[in-house]
Amino acid sequence: MKRLWILLIISLLASSFVIAQMPIENELYASVLSIEGKTHIERGEFIKEQLHKMGVGYVTAPFKNISRVKMDTIIIAGENIIVRLGQGTKRIVVGAHYDAFKDSPGANDNGSGVAVVLALIQHLQNMEWNYSVDFCFFDQEEANLMGSMYYINQFIIPQKHLAMINLDIEGTGDEVFIGPVGSNNRFLMRYIHEAAQKNGFPLVEHSEYPSSDYMSFAEYNLENISISIVPKGDGDRLSKYVHNGYKADSIDMPKVLGVMHTLYDRSSFIAPASLKMSYEFTNTLLMLLNESGK
Ligand SMILES: [Zn+2]
Repeated sequence: MKRLWILLIISLLASSFVIAQMPIENELYASVLSIEGKTHIERGEFIKEQLHKMGVGYVTAPFKNISRVKMDTIIIAGENIIVRLGQGTKRIVVGAHYDAFKDSPGANDNGSGVAVVLALIQHLQNMEWNYSVDFCFFDQEEANLMGSMYYINQFIIPQKHLAMINLDIEGTGDEVFIGPVGSNNRFLMRYIHEAAQKNGFPLVEHSEYPSSDYMSFAEYNLENISISIVPKGDGDRLSKYVHNGYKADSIDMPKVLGVMHTLYDRSSFIAPASLKMSYEFTNTLLMLLNESGK
């Protein structure tokens, strides 16, 4: 019996050593590999499995939206998965949607964002937080940002909200593209600039930014920013694309749109170094924000 205990302890130590030693880009890429091509339900199950392995508690918040379009009843059901760390009065929200566009394997959109949020939880779970932080895996972003809307209605107290950081499209290139810069991130921008400087990453910011869950927060004038890692020049191209009403005609086509929402959104197009950039940038941003709460 005693020997069994010793063996168990050794194997536990060995497995935690392997996790601790795995380079962050490998850890991030492994998550994308696991999530791509999975069904909607399986994507949620994968996240919960990973949280179980980390020994991190979470809550699930299911929702069901019933609407009528002419004679048809449309039901959209989903489930947000939320990990809450820290106990401060003010709250930071870090979110990535985990649903994928219909029939797309969803590696970059948004397996990449999910991988980064999972890694942040894994590495920051024992940190001393001056704020409370909700790490959210939003469902049904591709259905009019439904998951984040439900989250806001269920969990947000505007007076306690400090900032929302949205991660969507993190897997290609080496340019940190942030936005939409404007009245809803007056507090955050100082820390964004500081994080870019600290990491030495090229930062491209625009007031026009592609649609994602940050928009639900913007609708309620809640402080928010979205972060993507994109190929060089894509920040400008994406911003022009949004300005052009999401039409690519007569403008330079953003490179990320080549595979997004298609059958080709696979891990073979994902660069581990891009995922690492997203992780490091967001990690630094969270550290700076946390220090501001001392
Ligand atoms: Zn997306």
